Amino acid sequence: MIQIDLTGQVAVVTGGSSGIGLATAEMFLRAGASVAICGRDTERLAQAEAALNAQFPNAQLLARRCDVLDADDVKAFAEAVQTRFGRTDMLVNNAGQGRVSTFADTTDDAWREELDLKYFSVIRPTRAFLPMLRDAAGVSGSASVVCVNSLLALQPEAHMVATSSARAGVQNLLKSLAVELAPQRIRVNSILIGIVESGQWRRRYAKEAQPGQSWEDWTAELARKKNIPLGRFGRPEEAAQALFYLATTLSSYTTGSHIDVSGGVARHV
Ligand code: NDP
Repeated sequence: MIQIDLTGQVAVVTGGSSGIGLATAEMFLRAGASVAICGRDTERLAQAEAALNAQFPNAQLLARRCDVLDADDVKAFAEAVQTRFGRTDMLVNNAGQGRVSTFADTTDDAWREELDLKYFSVIRPTRAFLPMLRDAAGVSGSASVVCVNSLLALQPEAHMVATSSARAGVQNLLKSLAVELAPQRIRVNSILIGIVESGQWRRRYAKEAQPGQSWEDWTAELARKKNIPLGRFGRPEEAAQALFYLATTLSSYTTGSHIDVSGGVARHV
């Protein structure tokens, strides 16, 4: 694996208490960065903090409760990062979850909730951390925003109509943002994921698996049903590696772009 030393740099990962966000926080800490994570559930956050501190005893880690849909929470999170670390070089907008619903069963309120989550989980943290990203880019010549988005943005699924539509809009927003922030040396990219093993899939397994069916059998069956060419779910660290690449100067000439982490599910060329 390519090694990169992030000592002295600060990475912020929203939704860093589980799944892809937690794996990404781990990668940043391993590379020597200071890391700030947030989530809504304080118990899950405390567990993630304890696990990261156990794995990296010298970690410069800030774990703070913050709902990315609450403007005051996000502002307070950014202030806490400023106070503790004094800068932000990389922002990973990862917090969120998907919504399974068809057009027939998505109410107006559900549409609003979904659009709110997908757009404002990007807009609010980006706005709050932008002054620090600008300062960091002013000093080092480089800062970045990376968003966890879904392949549904390009390849919608009717059973996730609101999520697919919102994800497409976010991809469009990121393109504008990349152009607007490029003169300030802030790159903006995303990853488009398919199915990645994580908290949300563990919860679906608990609800939907047959009695006695193992996690491995349940995910393998789903991967077959969903025609995933690589034949399995992705692992959180596989999404994290792509996020790490786009967040760091390993991708210094890439902005307004994305990496597909879907195991080959994308049908377009
Ligand atoms: P997890 O459920 O494992 O992790 C989600 C993380 O986001 C948790 O830390 C959760 O903590 C946090 N979170 C959720 N909502 C908020 C909020 N409003 N404010 C702050 N934190 C929040 O799932 P994943 O790792 O899979 O999800 C990461 C991202 O990837 C999400 O945006 C998801 O939609 C996206 N994604 C995942 C796919 C997959 O197959 N796994 C497919 C497509 C997209 P808490 O609940 O305590 O707030």
